[in-house]
Amino acid sequence: MYSAGVALGQAGPFDGVELSIEHVAGNVYMVQRPGGGGNIGVLIGPEGVLLVDSLFAPLSDKLVAAVKEVSDSEIRFLINTHIHGDHVGGNENLAEMGVLIFAHDNTRLRFLEERSRFPRRGGSFMPQPPEAGRPVVTYNDTISFHLNGEEVRAFLAPPSHTDGDTFVYFPNADVLHLGDVFRTTSYPIIDLYNGGTLRGTIAALDQAIEMAGPDTKVIPGHGLSIVGRKEMQEFLAMILDVRDQVLVMITDGMKLDEVMAARPTAAYDAQWGQEAGWTADDFVPIVYYQLGGSGRLADR
Ligand SMILES: [Zn+2]
Repeated sequence: MYSAGVALGQAGPFDGVELSIEHVAGNVYMVQRPGGGGNIGVLIGPEGVLLVDSLFAPLSDKLVAAVKEVSDSEIRFLINTHIHGDHVGGNENLAEMGVLIFAHDNTRLRFLEERSRFPRRGGSFMPQPPEAGRPVVTYNDTISFHLNGEEVRAFLAPPSHTDGDTFVYFPNADVLHLGDVFRTTSYPIIDLYNGGTLRGTIAALDQAIEMAGPDTKVIPGHGLSIVGRKEMQEFLAMILDVRDQVLVMITDGMKLDEVMAARPTAAYDAQWGQEAGWTADDFVPIVYYQLGGSGRLADR
């Protein structure tokens, strides 16, 4: 029914993968792939379905089936929060169904690069996403969707996970989809190959926390549960603490290997350092270099 497309990112096997759809609030739902893959936001209603992110290409029929469980309406719009394959992999299949794809200008530019880079495994190269899956409509700041009684606002966040991170807010339902700027399963992935920054990560989380009320529901880019302001605050507090510790170490003249050995993330590794492929060993060097640390080894 759907073309195979190109599975981008850390796809892994898709046989037997089941997607589940969960109510978030109001007309907003979340589709998840247990075991990994970007969480999808789903706005339903009689005027059509809007999706936030498209998961991997081989899962498109399952994604459509999951949406069908809660709505018979046509899927009309798709917003990509950023370039990574587990968030845009289903674009081509959805475009074939007539879904109109939106993304920030910077994210579309990443689609045009000859090869994509993936932050894990030292910035490994991935094939260019298929041309048919490119966003058709782009925005340089903010775009709004007036649909199903919602005033969906999609807007550029400061450069944090990538330089094209879109946050999506559903004011009536009071739901925020933050893409991969916020994840509950690991330390933040600051993708230096696609324009991510530590400073922007802190600013973007600040902005999201400022927007959220005590009852706001937050869909993380990755993580199996719907969370809220408190979880974002804990995530940001962890980042700020690690940043402050590393800054002191840099000021003290410590080289990266000494900073790593001092384990500035020790208090947090049990909660955020357990995901294979993105642990403190990946996060701490980024913090170190983003803060101006230089030199890999101690001069002795
Ligand atoms: Zn990502």
